[in-house]
Amino acid sequence: MIEIRDFSKRYGRVEAVSPINLKVVPGEVFGLLGPNGAGKTTTIRAMVGLTRPSTGTVRVGGFDVWREPVKAKAAFGYIPDRPYLYAKLTGRELLRFIAGLHKLEHPNTEIERWLEFFGLEDFGNELIETYSHGMKQKLTIIAAMLPEPPVLIVDEPMVGLDPRAAKQARELLAGYAAKGKTVLLTTHSLPVAEAVAHRIAVLDRGHILAEGTLEELQQQSGTERSGVEGNTLERIFFKLVEEEELERENAREKAAA
Ligand code: ATP
Repeated sequence: MIEIRDFSKRYGRVEAVSPINLKVVPGEVFGLLGPNGAGKTTTIRAMVGLTRPSTGTVRVGGFDVWREPVKAKAAFGYIPDRPYLYAKLTGRELLRFIAGLHKLEHPNTEIERWLEFFGLEDFGNELIETYSHGMKQKLTIIAAMLPEPPVLIVDEPMVGLDPRAAKQARELLAGYAAKGKTVLLTTHSLPVAEAVAHRIAVLDRGHILAEGTLEELQQQSGTERSGVEGNTLERIFFKLVEEEELERENAREKAAA
């Protein structure tokens, strides 16, 4: 459902993403993790057609996102890290507009169900510009999921959500994949990734350091299961990223010698 082949992105002299390959299949939540500046958002922007690959291809739902943008875009919903919404519409107006674009059969029932799910039913007729950050984030999630796209691409879904909404969002993503949909998410929350992701890739400075299930990542990084829930991935992450840093330092010292 998502296929990234030899994708790289260069901004001037900065190679934000070196050629990478990734595949995400239906029924799977795939977590893309990495420190600040690793290239996660750049990869996501390529998946949703907001940036042109310097090399390689990105296909979503079987379509090349850059060459067949309309078909590819019909196949996914996108939840960006910062909500971009029409400030002068009300929540309900925005959702009706999206339902219309996707020709939903029973838009009002679905819209009301979603607004109630996130406790937004009393704010649905207010202008979006009056919403708090968390309310905008909830509306963004609804807008992406309302048409039930085969693929959901999510950049930092929990930012700005209160603990209850964050739990709801986690369950939504897991439930969505359980229905046979494809979910790709980036997050800095390792416990969230550990709880919902079936497979994970750790990206650092544009390179994939390791990829696989939690067990496979443990093997690749040579770490033990921590015994504390939500901690195993943290150990793997730090081991991988710190080893990479050490290797870079050694290479720098060698070059200087
Ligand atoms: P974060 O966790 O901080 O959001 P990230 O993993 O999403 O980081 P990216 O935003 O993809 O990282 O950035 C990867 C690299 O590309 C960084 O070095 C960044 O400075 C650079 N970069 C990203 N966008 C641009 C741009 N439009 N122009 C120039 N450089 C960019």
